[in-house]
Amino acid sequence: MKKIVIAIDGFSSSGKSTMAKDLAKEIGYTYIDTGAMYRAVTLYCMRNKLIKDGGIDEKALQESLSDIRLTFQLNKDTGRPDTYLNGVNVEKEIRSMEVAGWVSAVAALGFVRRELVAKQQEMGKAKGIVMDGRDIGTVVFPGAELKIFVTASPEVRAERRVEELIAKGEKASYEEVLENVKKRDYIDSTRKESPLRQAGDALALDNSYMSIPDQKKWLLEQYYRVVNA
Ligand code: C5P
Repeated sequence: MKKIVIAIDGFSSSGKSTMAKDLAKEIGYTYIDTGAMYRAVTLYCMRNKLIKDGGIDEKALQESLSDIRLTFQLNKDTGRPDTYLNGVNVEKEIRSMEVAGWVSAVAALGFVRRELVAKQQEMGKAKGIVMDGRDIGTVVFPGAELKIFVTASPEVRAERRVEELIAKGEKASYEEVLENVKKRDYIDSTRKESPLRQAGDALALDNSYMSIPDQKKWLLEQYYRVVNA
């Protein structure tokens, strides 16, 4: 069967990662979480004091970019790839509220985007990938054979995120999470560099009231429709 590129874009906590990971597993494709890459760069900034006094030291970050090595390794227990920053597993740390509070500002920097987009294009050049993010269908792989744009209301997304954080044993207040979701939506869709928007040829999916098995079924149907065409 021919190998394709599947681009899954959408708002924060829209459930796109769950859909993307499940699909990749089902069809034997590599899953690439580009949000994790922006989160890992943000974590690097925090650990190296490049975020201070309420701002990002852009010059220092630009100079440090070549010291940031991002890789993914399959976690045998979860069957999903974990994110590594300079050889250390940071999968848990990059999901913290602190990182979530800064990641959109880091991801809005043009030099960060150019570096990570180039890495993402390299990772996907052999095809057979499911990549999720904000600009995959518009900037990273505008020629992707299957593009999906996932959305859900901010309230539904905040509820999902709270459940996820609680399940991981982290503290989470619904109000705080909702505020973060809305703030990231705003920064992501109004930034100058590759704003979050639906590609003209992407299929939109509002999954506010859809179950995970239904989303999975829908996505699999889209995949077979494209590869069998
Ligand atoms: O997908 P996730 O919520 O983990 O992404 C974290 C943040 O990284 C997003 O809010 C967005 O600011 C940024 N991002 C991006 N472009 C991508 C993926 C994520 O700007 N392709």
